[in-house]
This record gives sequence, C-alpha cells and structure tokens, in this order.
Amino acid sequence: MKTIQKLLILAAALTVLLTALTACGGASDSLKAVQEKGVLVGATSPDFPPFEYLENGEPVGMEIELMQAIAEKLGVTLKIEQVDFDSIIPGIQSGKYEVGMAGITVDEKRKKNVDFSDVFFTAAQKIVVQPGSTIASKDDLTGKTIAVQTGTTAESVCMDGGYELLSFTSNNDAVAALTSGKADAWVVDSEVAATLAEQQGLVVLDEAMTEEPYAFAFKKGSDTLVQAVNQALAELKADGTVQKIFEKYDVAYNG
Ligand code: GLN
Repeated sequence: MKTIQKLLILAAALTVLLTALTACGGASDSLKAVQEKGVLVGATSPDFPPFEYLENGEPVGMEIELMQAIAEKLGVTLKIEQVDFDSIIPGIQSGKYEVGMAGITVDEKRKKNVDFSDVFFTAAQKIVVQPGSTIASKDDLTGKTIAVQTGTTAESVCMDGGYELLSFTSNNDAVAALTSGKADAWVVDSEVAATLAEQQGLVVLDEAMTEEPYAFAFKKGSDTLVQAVNQALAELKADGTVQKIFEKYDVAYNG
C-alpha cells in the first residue's frame, strides 16, 4: 500500500474515533460540561425589575431566584455576569455565557441564534407616559419620540411601527429619557413598566402592543443542558416554587 493511501486510512480512522468520542459525552454534552466544572455561567442585564435588578450592587429578582433554584437542582453554582441586554445573545453564541436570563422573549429571529428553554412567563409590551400626557393609545404614538432599550423586542416593534426612536443600552436611561421629557413615551415589558411606573409616578396605558413569552436562552446545540433545565423548571412549577417566587415580588404568575 502506498504511503498516501495509508495516511488517508489513518485520517479516516481518526475522524471516526473523534466523532465517537464526542458523541459519548465529550465536549458536546453541555450538561456534563457544566456539572463537571460545577458552575453555570448566566448573563443578565439587571435593569429589568422585578425580574432582575441591583440591590447593594448584587443582581436580585424573580428570574435570578428561579435560575438559582434550577442550578441547585442541577447540582451547580450559578455565577452571574452583568451585561447590557444587547450583549447577552452574542455572548451566548460565542460561549462566554451558558444561559441568558433577562426576560428574553422567544421569537423566530432569536431562535436562529440560540436555543430556548420552555416558557416560564408571558408578558406584553406596554406604553408608559408622563401623567397628563396626550398619548392614550398606540395610535397616538405617531410623530412622537419613543424611548426603548437597544436590542429588545420593544425596539423592533417600534421600528416596525415606523416611530421615531431613542434607543438606550440601559433601561434606566430609557425611563430617564421619559422622566426628563426627552422622550414622549417609553415602550417596555409589562411587569417592568408596572414596577418602574409606580416607583417614578408614571402612567402605564392599558393597551398591549404585543404578547411576549419569556424563556432562558442557551448556545445552539446545548440539548442536554436545556433538557435538564426544562426538567428542573417543570418540577419547580409543579411543586409551587415558581409561583411562590412570583408572589414574593407581587406578580401574578401566568406560566
Ligand atoms: N422581553 C424583551 C426582549 O426580549 C426585553 C428584555 C429586556 O429588556 N431585558 O427583548
């Protein structure tokens, strides 16, 4: 046999061996990888109360508690990285973070870039205005300036609507644009709208612009990790833990 033939056979054998090793739970087993290091790295943008916000510099909130309970079931410690919302999905894709927990709405475009867990809550996009505003519904937004957070579904919905936008990397800056009068309205997810409107004396309009199912986001192909998270989530839903977490923050659980 010629040397080149031998080399080709050797290369083919190595490929088969490597494929078999990967399939047997090597690097491709996302759950095993997380359990072996004992840490689940989660990314959040803690400007989204009551799902995630800062208390004494530490991220707290419903979603943080929920992911902590899930991590406990997986037997790992949750390590939280604080990042801007629009950096979460790219960071998951590059493998920097293993899970995104940021009130992330499941949508078809994102499904091309990340895998989602089962849904744990359904929210809506709401319009927030100053007391006494002439804006009383979506139709009144035409010609007005709307504050949104960069990379969110609020931004895409308002862009699709052709409205004039001011886009901020932080939700705190988006709400500040409304309170300072730079923007006429702020479009944001329902529970965040309710929480911050109450804290800052703002008004949330009844009309919902969209319906938004929330789930946790993972790197594409994290099948075993997503399955384990879904199993843990199902158990926490069934034993009332999820409901209790939501009640603690005065939110009616609808998951
Ligand atoms: N649910 C919205 C989205 O997924 C907003 C999330 C957020 O601002 N944290 O875009």
